[in-house]
Amino acid sequence: MAASAARCAVDVGQAVKVLILGGTSESRSLAQALHVDGRFDVTTSLAGRVRDPALPVGRVRSGGFGGPDGLASWIRDNQVDVVVDATHPFAAEISRNAASACARTSTPSAVLRRRPWTAGPDDRWIPAESMTEAATIVAQQPRRVFLTIGRQGVDAFAENASSWFLIRSIDAPDTSMPPHHEVLLARGPFDSAGEIELMRSRGIELVVSKNSGGAMTEAKLVAARELRIPIVMIDRPRTPPGDFETGAVDDVVSWLRRRL
Ligand code: NAP
Repeated sequence: MAASAARCAVDVGQAVKVLILGGTSESRSLAQALHVDGRFDVTTSLAGRVRDPALPVGRVRSGGFGGPDGLASWIRDNQVDVVVDATHPFAAEISRNAASACARTSTPSAVLRRRPWTAGPDDRWIPAESMTEAATIVAQQPRRVFLTIGRQGVDAFAENASSWFLIRSIDAPDTSMPPHHEVLLARGPFDSAGEIELMRSRGIELVVSKNSGGAMTEAKLVAARELRIPIVMIDRPRTPPGDFETGAVDDVVSWLRRRL
């Protein structure tokens, strides 16, 4: 009954227009689920920074909107019905812009954000509120450091000449870097055996990570636990909640189906 009513809405050209703010594995899973459902008109937006991004199914646009005003205009011009902010938990600016643009255009919004990791009894986490605080903690003594923060934020460690850094990112950082380093270009998912091998081979004594959450990059936590290596864990920035917030793709699909 519900499905035929929904199909009827699509037949008369009323597919729900969804803008997914993407750049994460969850955003690609959501695009895939909505594509399979077939009753949504979906566009995924990417920031356009990664040279060879993992692409979702369906329509993709790329590049900034020009702040909250630009995003609000894009929503109006493209008659977007619903926005799903499925960006990375550390992509705070686009999340704030989305909240502002949705409020201005009275567009309903959902936030799809993976849950943060939590430390277990065998983990040795050193909490940091920001990248700057993480850099201050790292500067306290010379060590061999594994920077797993992506390429953004590496410049916070650029002045540290006493430690050696293994910097892993998808594309090479284009900002200043600490003088003693190795750049390792790699894209997750990673497994714990590989992470243990990597940390052992480079003699890693300290890991720096954002609390991104999710399974794709969780193996480094397992490896650090196994090797008893401390992790400077950077807290997430605060971001607005939207009308509906969840960590599960299926929940967003259900929420969107209720809008058909
Ligand atoms: P950010 O600091 O929150 O955003 C900076 C600016 O980039 C935004 O104001 C916006 O430009 C543009 N932008 C960001 N995401 C966009 C999107 N999905 N579509 C269109 N424009 C976007 O973002 P960020 O931390 O640089 O992250 C950029 C992208 O990489 C995001 O899509 C995020 O999901 C993904 N990502 C980020 C991280 C991370 O650690 N930060 C990790 C993995 C993936 P305008 O103001 O001009 O609209």
